[in-house]
Amino acid sequence: MARAHVAFGGNVGEVEANLRRALEAVVRLPKTRIVRVSSLYRTAPVGVVDQAPFVNGALAADTEIEPEALLAGLLAIERSLGRTRERRWGPRTVDLDILLWEQRVVRTPDLEVPHPRLQERAFVLVPLAEIAAEVRHPLLHRTVGALLEALGPVSGVDRLGRPAWLDALEENPC
Ligand code: ATP
Ligand code: CA
Ligand code: CA
Repeated sequence: MARAHVAFGGNVGEVEANLRRALEAVVRLPKTRIVRVSSLYRTAPVGVVDQAPFVNGALAADTEIEPEALLAGLLAIERSLGRTRERRWGPRTVDLDILLWEQRVVRTPDLEVPHPRLQERAFVLVPLAEIAAEVRHPLLHRTVGALLEALGPVSGVDRLGRPAWLDALEENPC
């Protein structure tokens, strides 16, 4: 059993409804359960800025499947929700990224864990710090909370709140 942290976000269509469907699908992945979900945050687009704001969050899952299998499951959920890849960092229905996998380091052509850009992104670190501030980055040797602090003042990440459907996804950890 391993604890994985996953970022979720989207900015196309009924964004909150899409995220809800995505997270309900994560719960149905084999040997995987969500143990914590952050609040939702409205975030300004980064990189490609001429697009709608995003809704972002992060979750912690306990899983017995391997990182590559979780990635395959997450990509399948993205596809099932109609995500198409047109433009790097462009608009998307749902994006699901593996951020951390305990202290494991994975580097294959299809999967890098820890996510190589997580330390640069307030839209990832703010929700992640809400649920995993004390979790340590295995390469940077700093906690999520310390990485967020190192970013300096955060702008463009606003807490939207915590809809009740998020609580319903959480199961008690072992
Ligand atoms: P970014 O990675 O900068 O957040 P993105 O999420 O928009 O960009 P995608 O188009 O969603 O990028 O993903 C491209 C590929 O990234 C995926 O098909 C997957 O194989 C690969 N990838 C590598 N590491 C990870 C990871 N930790 N989580 C999710 N996908 C990853
Ligand atoms: Ca991403
Ligand atoms: Ca992605």
